[in-house]
Amino acid sequence: MPGQSLPIQTALMPAYYKDFHCIMGACQDNCCDDGWRIEFSKKDYLTIKRAPKSTEMEELMKLGMRRLREKEHDGMYAEFHVTDAGRCAFHTPEGLCRLQLECGEQCLPKVCRIYPRREVYTPAALEYSLSPSCEGVLSLLWDLTDGIDFIEEPLPPSKCKLALTKNPVETNFAAIRELWVDALQARGLPLPRRLTLLGLLTHQLQSLDWEDEAAVDHWLTVSGSLVRDPSALADQLGRMSGNRNMFLSNNLQLLIRQFKTLGPDLAEELLRVITDKQTLAEVDLDRVTINAGRYQESEAKLAELTGGSEHFFENLLVTITLFLSFPDVKTPEELWQSYVNLCNLYGFYRFAAVCAMDREISRERLFYVLVHVSRSLIHNPTQRSRLRNELFQNGSATLAHMAILVGG
Ligand code: SF4
Repeated sequence: MPGQSLPIQTALMPAYYKDFHCIMGACQDNCCDDGWRIEFSKKDYLTIKRAPKSTEMEELMKLGMRRLREKEHDGMYAEFHVTDAGRCAFHTPEGLCRLQLECGEQCLPKVCRIYPRREVYTPAALEYSLSPSCEGVLSLLWDLTDGIDFIEEPLPPSKCKLALTKNPVETNFAAIRELWVDALQARGLPLPRRLTLLGLLTHQLQSLDWEDEAAVDHWLTVSGSLVRDPSALADQLGRMSGNRNMFLSNNLQLLIRQFKTLGPDLAEELLRVITDKQTLAEVDLDRVTINAGRYQESEAKLAELTGGSEHFFENLLVTITLFLSFPDVKTPEELWQSYVNLCNLYGFYRFAAVCAMDREISRERLFYVLVHVSRSLIHNPTQRSRLRNELFQNGSATLAHMAILVGG
């Protein structure tokens, strides 16, 4: 089928998007002090270089900003120096940005101006989303007990454009994305079952002939009815259940693979909850004893904190779906990969949240851990792809295995 041009004339955003504000001094892990590389484009670099500034700032600039080899940094041209303590060189002890104070907000690189926001064109709209790696965002998600609503607004002519789609599935991206969100918000089912329902429907779509427009339309109609009333799938959903030991073992492996990106201190804290080991060096995956009883105790503590409500994790999943532009509908393989990614992320978020409660039952503790998980996975596509590819390589990317990943 020849490509089809779709006019993009609307902006789509979660209704809470406009409520976001940085919580500044109340933030436990200020994004300017967390050891992140702050890389930016040549345009941003030149804006900073050319801005009028004091001699003191010129001197600080020599130490605080350096050029990069663009090829090795995804086209990024320069970065701010981050100290050994993980602080941006321009961050003052009072938590302010020296560059912004002296040269104005317009002088900041785009990444500093927009974080934790993201704007991207999809075949549906210009989409605005917020990253769950920011405590201010998690705090908003916590308060949305009725779930996330979306708003659509017309785009100004200067932002309208054409999206070229390659197949009927991509042309139906807006409807498929809506179905994903509806499945995640199908509150008649427990959250893990919603993910399994989503897996069943995604698997059906993956198996269709993507050039067959009528088949794709039919799938959309039938899937919409099943999301509204999943009773016809009760048998299939019932057959796919969780397996606590496999869930814990899988997440222990993920934890070990993320030791560096998560931060060794936090990773070892979580390790001590789930195993009889104190440090990574002591762990032999073939011999380690998993402490399922302690995990279960922590699970009860998380339920105490959330009052048994699943709304926070539901909101987190919807936010991840939007932020990562899931589902990926370029090919059937990429569609399934995006589902596997979502399950992998949910399983690990859930695991880390439960382990976090071992030390302290509080929202602050939950947010602290989930911010670090997000920074380790959501903002680290290489790591995310590596973990997902491992599942494919060892034959663990099946629907049945995903039910285990999300059901623990
Ligand atoms: S992580 Fe979010 S809340 Fe914290 S300082 Fe950065 S923008 Fe503000």
